[in-house]
Amino acid sequence: MKIFCIGRNYAAHAKELKNEVPTKPIVFMKPPTAILNGNKPFYLPDFSDNVHYEGEIVVKICKNGKHIQSKFARNYYDLITVGMDLTARDLQAELKAKGHPWEIAKGFDGSAVVGEFFPIKDTLDMHSFTIVKNGELVQLGKCKDMIFSIDVLIEYISQFFKLQIGDLIFTGTPAGVGKMNIGDVFEGFIEEKKCFKTEIK
Ligand code: ZN
Repeated sequence: MKIFCIGRNYAAHAKELKNEVPTKPIVFMKPPTAILNGNKPFYLPDFSDNVHYEGEIVVKICKNGKHIQSKFARNYYDLITVGMDLTARDLQAELKAKGHPWEIAKGFDGSAVVGEFFPIKDTLDMHSFTIVKNGELVQLGKCKDMIFSIDVLIEYISQFFKLQIGDLIFTGTPAGVGKMNIGDVFEGFIEEKKCFKTEIK
């Protein structure tokens, strides 16, 4: 089982981190041990003083495939949830400055918060999600605002990696990311459906 993540897939978030809007998808991966599901709490790690939440739409792959054309991509995913791509922003900044890979800042244990999955409507573009922190809305993402649609992402990723049943794709975060503190409670919703609740410890 593989976890693919996409960087800078909403123009507003690229701007908030002062990054360029990409012309090709930015793809990275997290190991399966990064998964944090079932509403389990997240324990802030000792190696970072600045762990950020990035709320993201997550889709689950339902069919094996390689070199999938975007026009057929819809057959390869069927479930949606919202998750959080947790990022040790301080470590990531150090690694980026040196041009090093950022796995330890993005793929650590518990860094892939995943909610309960639901069937996708006709198209992913019909969906939106929200992240609520301590009862206050902090992120709103509309799938139709993604720079690269899920179908384009699947075409791109499957040129390099065979997609297998159960693989997950984190599709990038919109504006509104921020630091997590002990005691915070995060909730993720697809429209009105609650997908996860995670307490920070
Ligand atoms: Zn992300």
